[in-house]
Amino acid sequence: MGRLFVVNLEGKIYSCKHCGTHLSLCEDIMSKSFHCRNGKAYLFNKVANVTVGATEERMMLTGLHTVADIFCVRCGSNVGWKYETAHEKSQKYKEGKSVLERFKILGPDGSKYWTSHEAYVGGSDADDV
Ligand SMILES: [Zn+2]
Repeated sequence: MGRLFVVNLEGKIYSCKHCGTHLSLCEDIMSKSFHCRNGKAYLFNKVANVTVGATEERMMLTGLHTVADIFCVRCGSNVGWKYETAHEKSQKYKEGKSVLERFKILGPDGSKYWTSHEAYVGGSDADDV
């Protein structure tokens, strides 16, 4: 029956665009230069209020990674993915970190991000250019 436990964050908050659950903070952004199939994505040092799905091997722009999709704890929508293991040495810094897809979250000022011409082809990708 699992009572829902939602952590409230303070500061410049990124939240689920569907239900407003707090997911992460501006200060936890490690990189804004990631991409997913729908456009921009941000790498966060830590995220809150998510559940982690099954891990799988996924080929990204930067090589093979073991990742797990992450879901908003309240509404269950997929908000991004988490890196469990990076197979390339140069990508090890991503391990344990999470990516939130920008168009699935609301920014600190409540702004929405609309997908556009920037959409990347070729599946869900991570890039650290
Ligand atoms: Zn939600």
